[in-house]
Amino acid sequence: MNGQPYVTAFTDRYGVGPEGQINDFISRRGDRLLLADQIDLNAMVARYGAPLEVAYCPQITLQIERMLAWADDARMRSGYVGGFIYAYATKANFAEEVVRTAIGAGAHYETSAAADVTIAHRLWQQGVLPSDRYIFCNGSKDDAYLAAISALRRAGFARVVPVIDDLDELETLLAMCREPLLLGVRERHAPADVDADHPGGERFGLTPDEIEQVVERLRHTPHRLVMYHAMVGSQIEDADRWNMRLARSAEAYARLRQQAPSLMLFNFGGGMPTSAYSLDFRFDYVGFLERLMRTLASTCAAHNVPQPTLVGEFGRYTVASHNVFIMEVGRVKRGQGDAPDWVLINGSLMVSLPDSLIVPGQEFIILPLDGWDRPVRPVRLAGRLTCDSDDFFPRPGAPPLLLPDPYPGQKIAFFGVGAYQQMIAGRGGAHHCLTPEMRRIIIERDEDALVVREVAPQNLGQIMALLGYACETLELPVHQPVRAPVERRVVREPLRLLRSARRRNMPRGAPPPRYGSAARHM
Ligand SMILES: *Cc1c(COP(=O)(O)O)cnc(C)c1O
Repeated sequence: MNGQPYVTAFTDRYGVGPEGQINDFISRRGDRLLLADQIDLNAMVARYGAPLEVAYCPQITLQIERMLAWADDARMRSGYVGGFIYAYATKANFAEEVVRTAIGAGAHYETSAAADVTIAHRLWQQGVLPSDRYIFCNGSKDDAYLAAISALRRAGFARVVPVIDDLDELETLLAMCREPLLLGVRERHAPADVDADHPGGERFGLTPDEIEQVVERLRHTPHRLVMYHAMVGSQIEDADRWNMRLARSAEAYARLRQQAPSLMLFNFGGGMPTSAYSLDFRFDYVGFLERLMRTLASTCAAHNVPQPTLVGEFGRYTVASHNVFIMEVGRVKRGQGDAPDWVLINGSLMVSLPDSLIVPGQEFIILPLDGWDRPVRPVRLAGRLTCDSDDFFPRPGAPPLLLPDPYPGQKIAFFGVGAYQQMIAGRGGAHHCLTPEMRRIIIERDEDALVVREVAPQNLGQIMALLGYACETLELPVHQPVRAPVERRVVREPLRLLRSARRRNMPRGAPPPRYGSAARHM
């Protein structure tokens, strides 16, 4: 490896060329890294500087459209007659533009908390969330959560489906809500099925015996049990094991359907994996869905019950890939002995990528924006903006991160950060060592134009105010000048511009794409 250029090591390691498509949402053309083959990240950082967050919402639409097309494909191949429902699990990313984009692409809605239902209620009143979408309400529900569900139902939204997590919850809900409800039950993992690395899922749901009690309790009421929820886990890349687990749930569904003829939805929950975390990722989405449909079809036939509509709740699959962080190397500190160098970046890994610490073995796709001809080196990234000895990546025991020989000013892109990271970090909050949130560029599609919105980075005054100091105008002495907090621009004909740029094989150092200046009100 010694002396080998990064570009060669990259090609050898991943079996993809340095030019062209790298995975399904990252490409490299003419020495530039592109997100969704549309957004030139080198140009973005040349224009806006680093650290920088780029959120490209059309990628969310693409993810949803792809999954719906794969489901159609799987239905054709398997001859499955039940429908397919795509729900966005909003807890992966609650940002307004993210939720609005997912709904705009046809997604139904999955909630995890009282506030989440209240947001959905507002979106419905505003006409953003149509009445024909389902709202599936999961998790253990305290009175506030049940009251939010009941308020939504009483306001006339009929397709809200609380998924019962314990029997008391059901009693409280039925006491609160007279209107006929659609209800779901969540299957509780049997002890033998609990994944020792992720034991937390065991607390959710009802045992088979409790599910029978729900059926009995609903028997002479106006409420209907419509959904069976069989969530297995998250980012499940072993399709065989997942299908085997779901085959048992299909069996349970079919038996329950014999007692509860109102049942019509089989929900396999979250778990659909995203390609966003590793360039080694492979998953046969159509194959997985086709097998699940075949299993459901044969199980239902054996029990003489109709094929249910399949429901998936897609969190990380929907949003992980739409968002990128770009950070800049400030200092390189030589490693001692054989240890890799410390590459100190102008941000914090533990703040911006909290799952790097929380989830054992969590990976992220980390690529250099430039310097691909430089010799490859194993490095350790550390957050320069905290003085926390845990603020580094990769974590102990993980394979080394390879980058071009690092130098101050080098730009590094962190892909696949659109799911959970900002929610867990507490977007907009006061962070570890007062690390400010980076400048955020939000790109949305509006018919054939891309609308670009810029949100200024946090300044020290805002952070101090969050912490209770009466000094909202305080600023760091040397920092980027604070810009207008929100700017909106319309990029004129960005698709054509990028296409022609690509034909020219955009030279190194080419100017960033030009933006029109017309302001636009949304
Ligand atoms: C979190 C969650 C999801 C989303 O999971 P992903 O693995 O991110 O897709 C779906 N359903 C339920 C009930 C959840 O709790």
